[in-house]
Amino acid sequence: MKRSSVVGRNAERCAMLVGMDQLSTAEAPAAPALRERHQIPDRFKWDLAHIFPDWPDWQRAYDQLETQIGAYAALQGTLAKGAAQLLAAMKLSDDIGQLTYKVWYFASLKHDEDQRDNQINARRQQVQILFAKASQASAWFNPELLDIPLPTIQQWMADTPELAVYRFALEDLYRQQEHVLDEKGEHLLSLSSRFSSAPYDAYAALSTADVKHPSITLSTGPAVTLTYGQYRAILATNRNQSDRATAFAAYHEVFAANVNTYASLYNAVLQRDWFHAQSRGYRSTLEAALHGNNIPTTVVENLIESTKAGTEPLRRYHRLRKRVLGLETYHNYDGAIPIVDLERKYPYDDVLEWLPASVTALGREYQHHMREALEGRWIDVYENPGKRSGAYSAPVYGVHPYMLLNHNDTLDAVFTLAHEMGHSMHTMLSNAHQPFVYSAYTIFVAEVPSTLSEALFLDYMLARTTDERERIVLLQHAIDGIAGTFYTQVMFADYELQAHRLVEDGRPVTAEGLGEIYFNLLQAYYGDALDYDELSRVTWARIPHFYSTPYYVYQYATCFASSAQLMHHLTSGSEADRAAAIDRYLTLLKSGGSDHPMTLLQRAGVDLSKPETVRAVVDQLDRLVTQLEREINALA
Ligand SMILES: [Zn+2]
Repeated sequence: MKRSSVVGRNAERCAMLVGMDQLSTAEAPAAPALRERHQIPDRFKWDLAHIFPDWPDWQRAYDQLETQIGAYAALQGTLAKGAAQLLAAMKLSDDIGQLTYKVWYFASLKHDEDQRDNQINARRQQVQILFAKASQASAWFNPELLDIPLPTIQQWMADTPELAVYRFALEDLYRQQEHVLDEKGEHLLSLSSRFSSAPYDAYAALSTADVKHPSITLSTGPAVTLTYGQYRAILATNRNQSDRATAFAAYHEVFAANVNTYASLYNAVLQRDWFHAQSRGYRSTLEAALHGNNIPTTVVENLIESTKAGTEPLRRYHRLRKRVLGLETYHNYDGAIPIVDLERKYPYDDVLEWLPASVTALGREYQHHMREALEGRWIDVYENPGKRSGAYSAPVYGVHPYMLLNHNDTLDAVFTLAHEMGHSMHTMLSNAHQPFVYSAYTIFVAEVPSTLSEALFLDYMLARTTDERERIVLLQHAIDGIAGTFYTQVMFADYELQAHRLVEDGRPVTAEGLGEIYFNLLQAYYGDALDYDELSRVTWARIPHFYSTPYYVYQYATCFASSAQLMHHLTSGSEADRAAAIDRYLTLLKSGGSDHPMTLLQRAGVDLSKPETVRAVVDQLDRLVTQLEREINALA
């Protein structure tokens, strides 16, 4: 039952593309005309009837789920009676978990088709309330299990093969025993789950639902309503630096105007995390965040140190940009504009051919599965009014993964699909090869196949093109990927760590203090490659991940490092070496959450406890920047 909470987290998985900072990539988004949803042909829309034919069926499943949750609560007090009772509890928990995926995602995906629909939003919230009930109804399980000595459980598993399936899950609970409270304590904490998402909900309301988008006038004349999408588009396409400066100022003024409210909300996040860490007896919020996956805190500390020591290629890249773009001063808002113009569109139908071709190295079966995903109405391709922005892959167990996109024919959008496809293939392979209890992979591993999928696609496109301008665009894309997925995320992790330490040390959390941390970090990363704007101090206020999923973003960086190392193994060495690497990689995808993530990655040939793994990314960036310099000089 405890694993059903994984469901809600996965929904946030790919919010990364929404939350990325302005120094990350974006190719010229020339969005196709916005159509009403009913005007978009069916083959470009996902078919949620694969989950439930209609709402009455959803309602029946919801009712069934509620009944099962009641039945689970009634098992309280039975575990000590023997293996059969424990097995019954585990199986019912599996049933609840499987149904939960369908009930949650049907409402949640419907909601994302048009977030303006209040009725659907109410149903989605109804499921969230049920989750809170489920969490209370299962609060007895851990303390009751842990009252039974582990050797007794191990004997039960030896006698009952069906129970042995749960070995890793059960033994892992004993590992975490010292942080599990008695029944009363667990009950109290489960009650607090109802308001623990309040700071994020308030942040979302303040920054999205209630926000007053400013209107700005560009040098070319027209007034523009500055939504986040418009802001990104100006930074990525407008070659007039003063227009970009205007957009940057106006966009950040919105956050500056409410910066004390944002600081209060963020303080609530920090206090909540410290409350949970202390209640469970952790020494720090970082320790609490990493303990679940059995990851030593030194992995994050080393990541931050090694990255900070490797910022030179990043600065070299931005100095190169400043020179090529012919700018007198170079700001935060100059980081996304393409080095060269390329009037190329990447229609969705072309991608349908390229994407399977890019994964030839991973074998026919893998390609076959990918075609199934592309052609089976698993993907919601285009934007429509009210649709959720960004992109994600939703792992609907028992059905298939669904993907939400906002495809706009740009290169960025194509890579987004490659990224989400990596997640979906991972889901498909995990679900096919693991029992339900291990079917969900952890976030710590999740971004490995997605970034690797992008890397394979980049190689395919670089090999394919004969146009040196397109090659520059692709190289910039790869470099921006490292800047945004690796450097920016490590910087964000550093920010979160420092902010949480304020609370842990009993120091005040103010808008000014948070701005100071953020500003100092910018300087530590970009040094003299950037001219600094005071308004950059409020950037932290607008990053959704800080409110929704603290201590989450560093995992993009560890995943990126892992994926860089795997990519190296997959594409170099003898044929036998490569074949072995492919086999190890597919094994990783098939292994779901059947062991601790560091163990699974080690089996695939990646050791994150070593600084070399981090330095591999720094070296990779260095090589790419050198290659870009060569291409640019050849062009001149
Ligand atoms: Zn992702």
